[in-house]
Amino acid sequence: METIDAVSKQVSVQTSPEHEDLFDIAVRQFHIAADVLELEDGIRAVLSNCERELTVNFPVEMDDGSVQVFTGYRIQHNSGPGPTKGGIRYHQDVTRSEVKALAMWMTWKCAVVGLPFGGAKGGVRVNPKLLSMNELQNLTRRYTTEIQPLIGPNKDIPAPDVNTNAQVMAWLMDTYSMNVGYSERGITTGKPLVLGGSEGREEATGRGTVFAVEEAARHIDMDLTTARTVVQGFGNAGAVSARLMQERNRSRVVAVSDSQGGIYNPDGLDLAEVTRQKERTGTVLGYKNAEQVTNEELLELDCDILIPAALEGQITSRNADRIKARIIAEAANGPTTPAADDILYDRGILLLPDIYANAGGVTVSYFEWVQSLQWFPWTLEQVNERLRIVMKEGFHHVVKKSSEYGVHMRTAALLRAIERVAEFTRVRGIYP
Ligand code: NAD
Repeated sequence: METIDAVSKQVSVQTSPEHEDLFDIAVRQFHIAADVLELEDGIRAVLSNCERELTVNFPVEMDDGSVQVFTGYRIQHNSGPGPTKGGIRYHQDVTRSEVKALAMWMTWKCAVVGLPFGGAKGGVRVNPKLLSMNELQNLTRRYTTEIQPLIGPNKDIPAPDVNTNAQVMAWLMDTYSMNVGYSERGITTGKPLVLGGSEGREEATGRGTVFAVEEAARHIDMDLTTARTVVQGFGNAGAVSARLMQERNRSRVVAVSDSQGGIYNPDGLDLAEVTRQKERTGTVLGYKNAEQVTNEELLELDCDILIPAALEGQITSRNADRIKARIIAEAANGPTTPAADDILYDRGILLLPDIYANAGGVTVSYFEWVQSLQWFPWTLEQVNERLRIVMKEGFHHVVKKSSEYGVHMRTAALLRAIERVAEFTRVRGIYP
């Protein structure tokens, strides 16, 4: 049996697959965690496979009148907790193995924060940048029709992922609705507001990350009003996290960055001005009251909270021992390497792993689905408060696992997720 430390090593592999078969990696991660949990063989066999895998090869009429055949997938990993949920990506490198792995990881992600969903994923092998809007719409509508036997508001609910967006979800919803003969909003999330998208969805990931930080700070008795925050990446997740750290907690945000570099002022940044600067020029650089730092320097700045919200592989064995933050909240997917995980753990830094810390997005997708099924929209305040409760409870479940097994938070999050899905499987039994 591999050691518990190996669990965390495997867990992070998901974001840097290189040339390995992604589903093999996902299954390996699962078995290592299953060993720790001492899962029985039958449950292991169920959870290490995907329940349903559909491959479709479908024609699309192009603008010049020619016909091209595209390959797509919709794969459901496990429906024990409820309907399955997961995005659809359009990318020329999509493979069946990748879609299977992403479906399995969606199961764990939903389970960490206790959503009543299993995991699924879809994908089409296509470079969408080579298609016109009309071709993209044709492709989306035909793909939706092809996977229609598998999806449904109580079966499997798609969402946007790489290279898909609210418009693509609107076409998907319309196509499904036309096929069944009535408007079905619950078939997808990430829709435009006018079609039943949720208030608060845009900000949900960053807001969820900040709720996670608030709970973690309470846990270690950190006063956020005197805490200094550093955020790497000033995009959707990062800019919202930075603004809310300041707005909600009066925490000083001392540094932020984008792909071109970072800005640092130990007295705090005026984020409204930083945002204007970014809107004007496309970068935060050039903001006046700050010194310029590189993205590498930014990570090592004197601060209490560090929120990586850009790319994977930023905190590594090379810089982990120089990180000064006491809490790291992974808004980004996979910003910390396995070797760095161990160093941070040994140094007593509280790391909130991506699978938990950026689950605000899928959580508000769940809220959108509930509102769509009931045709009853919630207010922004209701969405945000319910998100806060989900993130708070998620934190305590993961912390509990961490102390129960003496493992760091990343491992604990995976153990919590697998244990939960195993329980559904066990209690439901096998039919017939
Ligand atoms: P985004 O494109 O809106 O923002 C990314 C930001 O990172 C930009 O400001 C960009 O300039 C910056 N960046 C790019 N390269 C960088 C580099 N080398 N160094 C520093 N900054 C760099 O993307 P996003 O939606 O905010 O996603 C960011 C991360 O959060 C990704 O890992 C994504 O998978 C994860 N995430 C996002 C969501 C969501 O709902 N947006 C949900 C879950 C996870």
